[in-house]
Amino acid sequence: MRTLEEAALAASTCTRCRLAETRTQVVYGAGDPDADLVFIGEAPGFHEDAQGVPFVGAAGQLLDKLLAEVGIRRDDVHISNTVLCRPPGNRDPRPDETEACRPWLDERLGIIDPAVIVTLGNWATRYVLGPSISISRVRGQRFTWQGRTVIPTFHPAAVLHGGGERSRQMSQMRADFLEIRAALEEHRPPVVLEEQLGLF
Ligand code: URA
Repeated sequence: MRTLEEAALAASTCTRCRLAETRTQVVYGAGDPDADLVFIGEAPGFHEDAQGVPFVGAAGQLLDKLLAEVGIRRDDVHISNTVLCRPPGNRDPRPDETEACRPWLDERLGIIDPAVIVTLGNWATRYVLGPSISISRVRGQRFTWQGRTVIPTFHPAAVLHGGGERSRQMSQMRADFLEIRAALEEHRPPVVLEEQLGLF
């Protein structure tokens, strides 16, 4: 199996779909190549396309805030999208584009081997759990997919557009992030006894 760095290099010249024609650059993903927790968003936007890093705009700032509130460092997770390239004008990714991109995600998950995957919003959730899923019905619940725990939650951009900090969606998202942290803690291997007793 190649490394995440090698996979990112291969992806950087991808021409599997029409998004290659309009992107500035491929936004492969960012974060810990050995993360226990992987986030999957929808698609890179203007800022992500310009900087080559996922979730650096306003939605990314909200994601950072939610992570910080539950004590998870952004550097300790891995963040990506259903498609690696910005759809023109920020339109929704098309099914043939997300399918063309799926091997990149499958490979990435094989390399990182996370215990927990969080899908952000309807697009990412349907991409992973199936097309008939509605985010408002499944958010905050745990699903098993390919041996991993999947927890869907809202897309941060939906919260920003739907009322912001004081909205019901925001408090639901906060509750979902507590569930994400709990799932992560349950998957952490227990500390070995010698370490607990300070024998190392
Ligand atoms: N929205 C997404 O879904 N992904 C990003 O990377 C940025 C905004």
